Amino acid sequence: MKNIKKSLKIATLLVCAYASSAQALVIHFNYATGMDPTALAGFQAAATRWTDILRDNVQVNLNIGFTALGAGILGSTGSTKVTYSYDAYRNALAADAIGVYDQAAVAGLSKSSCLNVVMNGTGVNPAGVGSGALFLDNNCNANNNTIRPTLANARALGLTAAVDSRVDGSISFSNLFTWDFNAADGVDANAYDFVGVATHEIGHALGFISGVDILDGNRAGNYSDAAFTYIAPTDLYRCSDVSKGAGADLDFSADTRTKYFSLDKCNTTLATFSTGVAFGDGRQASHWKDNAGYGIMDPTAGKGEVMTISALDRKMFDVIGWNVPEPGSIALFGLGLAALFGMRKRNA
Ligand SMILES: [Zn+2]
Repeated sequence: MKNIKKSLKIATLLVCAYASSAQALVIHFNYATGMDPTALAGFQAAATRWTDILRDNVQVNLNIGFTALGAGILGSTGSTKVTYSYDAYRNALAADAIGVYDQAAVAGLSKSSCLNVVMNGTGVNPAGVGSGALFLDNNCNANNNTIRPTLANARALGLTAAVDSRVDGSISFSNLFTWDFNAADGVDANAYDFVGVATHEIGHALGFISGVDILDGNRAGNYSDAAFTYIAPTDLYRCSDVSKGAGADLDFSADTRTKYFSLDKCNTTLATFSTGVAFGDGRQASHWKDNAGYGIMDPTAGKGEVMTISALDRKMFDVIGWNVPEPGSIALFGLGLAALFGMRKRNA
């Protein structure tokens, strides 16, 4: 969710589906008859940014709307999530790892069926119900052996149908705000980057989510460590000094300590994450750290700000299961050309 104003609410879904076939990634929009054509073109431009990068042969169905939302609500989004065993997810990721980044990421993942997690809250916290104190959750119940990706992410990994009519996510924008629909010439100083924000929202549906947001919203409750606390794919690379020191696989706690993105068992910090609306830094954990310049999955946008997909964004989508061309694939292409030229020389 792109948090520009503080209020965020779930929007009504708009549906009118039709079928199409998938050639590489296809983002299919369902929208109400009579939707503003400028907004529709903006959504389509945002979709193209992703289909230019992600090479999986799947179709992602998104409900989109551009309508009057409540006062102070800029936009809202929700994505469909599905659950798999960690083993099934990791095996699919390994089978899908075709570049150096995702191969390195898979190599750094635990081979155990159960993840050891640093977390807080819950009714099983040794320090007391809902306590913010950290504990190591290694009891191998549901939240230790289950991964909850978005449906779109699961499609990319071949864990479910590549193409069907299920809705992957729903995005609604308010038509009560001033938007700039063409960032190619910059974003007007009094307006928000529509295509940029739409790209961000689609990014959530494609899989950039954190289960920590669910824990954050329920941390004080007396619930088990298996309920509400499923790990999302990005969380597999969510580290802290505490989780590293404890030898845990990841940090799933809702608090203000620094959580960082790492692909090598928490040894190298590539970026930092937001840490939670309720108990963290005030931003949803399903984002990079706010205003750090990490990329399109920054949690906020300002008026006049142009938003683009960064190399870091690409790397995250790569390691959670999308096929993203990496620098290595360019090198291979270069080798192919050299071989071709070599043959021509020999033939000459
Ligand atoms: Zn967001």
